[in-house]
Amino acid sequence: MSKLDEILKFNKNFVENKEYEIYKTSKEPDKRILILSCMDTRLTDLLPRALNIKNGDVKIVKNAGASIMHPFGSVIRSIVVAVYEFNVDEIFVIGHHSCGMCNLSTDNLMKKIIERGISLETIETLENGGIDIKKWLHGFDSVEKSIEDSVNTIKKHPLIPKEIVVHGLAIDPETGKLDVIVNGYE
Ligand SMILES: [Zn+2]
Repeated sequence: MSKLDEILKFNKNFVENKEYEIYKTSKEPDKRILILSCMDTRLTDLLPRALNIKNGDVKIVKNAGASIMHPFGSVIRSIVVAVYEFNVDEIFVIGHHSCGMCNLSTDNLMKKIIERGISLETIETLENGGIDIKKWLHGFDSVEKSIEDSVNTIKKHPLIPKEIVVHGLAIDPETGKLDVIVNGYE
C-alpha cells in the first residue's frame, strides 16, 4: 500500500468513528502563546507533552532549526498574524540540542544535491541571480546563539508591539527538559 493510500484508509476510519471529537477547539490559542520550533521528528509529540500543551492551546510554527532566515520571511509573517489576529502575547523560541541544522555541512549537502541530478548549470544560474545557496542552506554554529538571535529579531521587529514577551529556550530531544536561554520577563 502506498503512503497516500495508507493515510487515506486510516483517515476514512478516523472521520467515520468521530475520533476528531476529542480535538475540538477554536482558532484562538487559549494560552495566547506562539511557539517557534524545529521540524525535528523527535519533537512532534514530545514537545507539546513536555510543555503540557494540548490541541487549541498554542500556535506552533516549525522549520529546520527554528530559524528566522529573514525579517520579512514566512516566520515573522506568521508571528505578525498570530499577534494581531489571534491575540498571541507571548512567544517562545524553542530550539533544541543536537539539531540537524547545527554545524550542518553545506559542502556535503551541495554534493548530495549534485548527486541527485541537479545540474551545476542550475546552481550557477541561481548564484548568478544573486542566490548564495550555501549561505541560504547554512544552519548555525551554536543553538544557544541561534535562539538568542531569533529572540532579538522578533523583539526588534518594527511590526511587533513592544509589550510582546519573547522567551528563548532549548529543549532536550530525548527527555524534553527545557533550558532557559532568554527569560522574556527580565
Ligand atoms: Zn532541529
